[in-house]
Amino acid sequence: MYNKIYRNMRFLCALVLSLSTLLFLVAVFTFFNSEIKSELPMFFALVIFTILMGIFIYIISSLIAARLALAIVKPITDFSSLSSNIPYEEIEPLIKQIQSQNKELGRQAEKAKAQKMQLQLITDNMNEGLIVIDKDANILSINSYAAKIFSLKEYEVKQKHYSVLTENSKFIDAVAKALKNNRTSLLIEISDADYRAFCSPVLKDGQLNGVVILLFDVTTILQSEKLRREFSANVSHELKTPLTSINGYAQLITNGIASPDDVPSFAAKIAKESNRLMLLIEDIIRLSKLDESDESNLKENFRIKETVCDVISSLSEKASMRNIKLECEGPDFFICANKSQITELFYNICDNAIKYNRDNGEVTFTLADAAVRISDTGIGIPPQYLSRIFERFFRVDKSHSKKVDGTGLGLSIAKHIARQNNVTISVESEPGKGTSFILTFKDVFRQNSGENLR
Ligand code: ADP
Repeated sequence: MYNKIYRNMRFLCALVLSLSTLLFLVAVFTFFNSEIKSELPMFFALVIFTILMGIFIYIISSLIAARLALAIVKPITDFSSLSSNIPYEEIEPLIKQIQSQNKELGRQAEKAKAQKMQLQLITDNMNEGLIVIDKDANILSINSYAAKIFSLKEYEVKQKHYSVLTENSKFIDAVAKALKNNRTSLLIEISDADYRAFCSPVLKDGQLNGVVILLFDVTTILQSEKLRREFSANVSHELKTPLTSINGYAQLITNGIASPDDVPSFAAKIAKESNRLMLLIEDIIRLSKLDESDESNLKENFRIKETVCDVISSLSEKASMRNIKLECEGPDFFICANKSQITELFYNICDNAIKYNRDNGEVTFTLADAAVRISDTGIGIPPQYLSRIFERFFRVDKSHSKKVDGTGLGLSIAKHIARQNNVTISVESEPGKGTSFILTFKDVFRQNSGENLR
């Protein structure tokens, strides 16, 4: 449209300018007529003047035409920026309608953009992998979590066949089935983690339109299920051992096989085994309670020395029976934790330090720099077992440990409590010389100020 108007305008301008020039020239000629002599050079000068004039007229008329054409076309081509006064009455309703449609389109585009951003935010913050595949088996979209699972970047896999994600044949088959309109679910292992994948066909008007894949990390669930199964098997085994002894001695007495002289010693063995059974059951109950509930909401600020002294006084009798010295040294500090759990934690470690100590030995609590070191002068732990002593029912030397009362659960309970109270435990040991358990507290306060040190 602009070109058409421009061409017409240029023609008009050229016409007007040429006519005016012609009139001007005629006027000049008439005025100077008497002095003009018909000479050849004068004729050529006139011809050149006319050509130059023609070029000049062409340029000027082009410029004027361009300006005029632009002025006419601008309100139509750029109508979106026009406010109330539209110069052309005839097309005003049309322009107004287009303007309102434009506004509506703008609003809808904004809305769509906001919705897209919202969706992107949701999918990017999901703790599950989400992959959308089109009916041709190409990846339409993949959220960042899913890309991380497959150790790929989103842009590397978009619009590519879904098999670029993994070579796992179970996964490829499951998606292929979903692409044939069968809902599938499977467990897959990717980079040492376990995922449950749900592949669901997406239908539109009864026709398959693609597949949505959801991936859930079930590593911890599977691990805790495995631990629970192992724990149940261990519990049955551990309970069976003392029960078999109790049952054996009881039968010997009941059937009259045991001589009257043996009865007191058999009764004592029954008492000892049932005592062990009681301890085992108490520890098992304690552990399952710790497994089920988080008691961190019962945290309070208290002096660490107070709990250490409580533990020392409650174990002093047991220690004095083997002439073991219990001591506490170093500056006191405040911690924020569950007080009864921390007392239990110190108790379990100090109890072991007495149990696995030599007669006339020592157990020392050293308080320093937000940490408590509990050192003993006992039998020590061989280095190869240091990492295993916190396992449930683990005892370093079963035959030796048999002589010492214990369930193999004390340190598991201690580890659990430490985790719930922001405490880290490390162990140093030298067989034959002794063991040190170092507890480092994170929620520590300066005395009387309440200021957190960490
Ligand atoms: P237990 O009831 O057998 O003491 P624990 O879980 O408390 O069970 O400890 C696990 C094992 O770690 C113990 O059986 C023992 O072999 C070893 N152990 C723990 N503390 C000490 C220590 N202070 N000195 C030597 N060995 C220890």
